[in-house]
Amino acid sequence: MNNFIISNLQKLKNKKIQNPEIDLRILLNNSKYTESEIILSNFNLDQINIEHFNSTLNRRLANEPISKIINNKSFWKDDFYVNQFVLDPRPETEAIIEECLNIIKTKDSHIKILDIGTGSGAIAISLAREFNNSHITAIDISDQAIEVAKKNIIDKNLYEKIELKKTTIDHMNGKFDLIVSNPPYLSKQDHENVSIEIKNFEPKIALDGGEDGLNFYREFAKKIPNIMIKDAYLIIEIGEKQFNDCKDIFSYSGLNFLKKVQDLQKKDRIMVFSKL
Ligand code: GLN
Repeated sequence: MNNFIISNLQKLKNKKIQNPEIDLRILLNNSKYTESEIILSNFNLDQINIEHFNSTLNRRLANEPISKIINNKSFWKDDFYVNQFVLDPRPETEAIIEECLNIIKTKDSHIKILDIGTGSGAIAISLAREFNNSHITAIDISDQAIEVAKKNIIDKNLYEKIELKKTTIDHMNGKFDLIVSNPPYLSKQDHENVSIEIKNFEPKIALDGGEDGLNFYREFAKKIPNIMIKDAYLIIEIGEKQFNDCKDIFSYSGLNFLKKVQDLQKKDRIMVFSKL
């Protein structure tokens, strides 16, 4: 390997960046002039815009996640534009899509779906792709997140299927067949203890669930049943220690708890309810 690669790898290792080879390769490819893929073993300096590379490497050395630097994160079957104003879609959230597929058996049914706190739009867009005849409303309270979701929806040509609105559930008056959400659910304490990558580069508005992390679930239990048709489903993401609290919170909501789903690390992650 040439010296340029060796010395930059060393910089990443010195900062204890977890996958230095992978990250270096991604950053080199993000700065390349040429069409062909750069691999570390045959790299040559003419292939990249060195200033661009150096500035992105410095961002990585300051712990900024790769996704925020290259403005791209994969989720389900697509790549999404992301920036500092939206939470990166995470692999554990894909279980929401899987559960929707388990529950709604016919992919071409004409269902009305609501995604609360859409952020990058990853959940709404993935559902629009899976359910051909669905009509999706995606809402968020952040102007900047709405801009990101809009970009993703337009990039993927889905503006006829997904209606994007800057609003809250208080202002929703339609009735839905399926409601999904990955709301902010970190407690104050959890937010203090997250990694620097999350603390400094993920938007607090997407993580902060109030003192005990449960504020959004309390609000959902009160308001969501009113905007569900009979037999509609609610599928939400929860924090790993929130299952019992959420079960209590929803016990008087008029929703029937159907199941919980754990993520690959065997942590409680998704809850599924139906309207009685
Ligand atoms: N899973 C996220 C995290 O660990 C939290 C997501 C959320 O609050 N919705 O940081």
